[in-house]
Amino acid sequence: DYVLTESQFVHKDDLNYPFEERGLQFGDGIYEVIRVYGGQYYLIEEHVERLYRSAEAVKLKMPFTKEEMYEQLNELLEKNQIQQDAKIYMQITRGSAPRDHAFPLNVKSNLYAYVQDLPRKIDFMADGVSAITTPDVRWDWCYIKSLNLLPNVIAKQEASEQSCFEAILHKDGEVTECSSSNVYFVRDGKVYTHPAKENILHGCVRTRIEQFCKDEDIPFVEETFRVEDIPHADELFLTSSTAEVMPIVKVDGNLIQEGQVGPITRKMQQKYEQDAQIKESQ
Ligand code: PLP
Repeated sequence: DYVLTESQFVHKDDLNYPFEERGLQFGDGIYEVIRVYGGQYYLIEEHVERLYRSAEAVKLKMPFTKEEMYEQLNELLEKNQIQQDAKIYMQITRGSAPRDHAFPLNVKSNLYAYVQDLPRKIDFMADGVSAITTPDVRWDWCYIKSLNLLPNVIAKQEASEQSCFEAILHKDGEVTECSSSNVYFVRDGKVYTHPAKENILHGCVRTRIEQFCKDEDIPFVEETFRVEDIPHADELFLTSSTAEVMPIVKVDGNLIQEGQVGPITRKMQQKYEQDAQIKESQ
């Protein structure tokens, strides 16, 4: 139960923060969630690169260089003797200082990263999940993986109260992404998804989906689709580091293609397992 911090590894029970911590008071920080299969990171370069892009975008000083970050993250797995499927949660905040909106001077960033077991959602991936649609009320800079997650939390709670796995977000009817995943619409053999602009998170798994489509000669079209298009989808799926490639078979109570998971979604799942080198036994 070792946690990586900006200065040393500590036991999780020994972690404590001052009440004037900017992550707590302002959500003034950034985070990443990195997948681990059988004790090995998946897409670690993509996650570390995105973390440093987020840091730059909010002018946050990182406590480590990228090289140090890779070393520390590897040590985190080693120290905790991780050999199973898991995830790393890591956050970095602007530190602790008397409350003032403007950045404090000469204050060190706070970092922590820890490991949580995360078995694969095998049954959901086999059968598909349900989703709701709800307006995207977030800010314009969703490409930054910031700690300000209240709209995402509320959207996911709404989904959860309706026994759904995810909330599909839309701005004036144009689908952006989900509360904690990217979403794709398949029609006539093409995969459509919102362009990687500033108003969505550029998912690390999304970059792989683009590559998998290229490998298979499936057009990957970065164009938005609308909420009204959803009932006419041939297939619908979402991706994230924790949910992998997840079929969506029901939206707002209506089945898509009678609840059957389609062939392109299955192909993406298969390619994901190959790419992440997931073994049968896992
Ligand atoms: N979109 C949002 C809003 C997310 O929070 C996430 C990740 O959890 C994603 C997309 C998917 O990103 P990734 O594939 O890097 O996990």
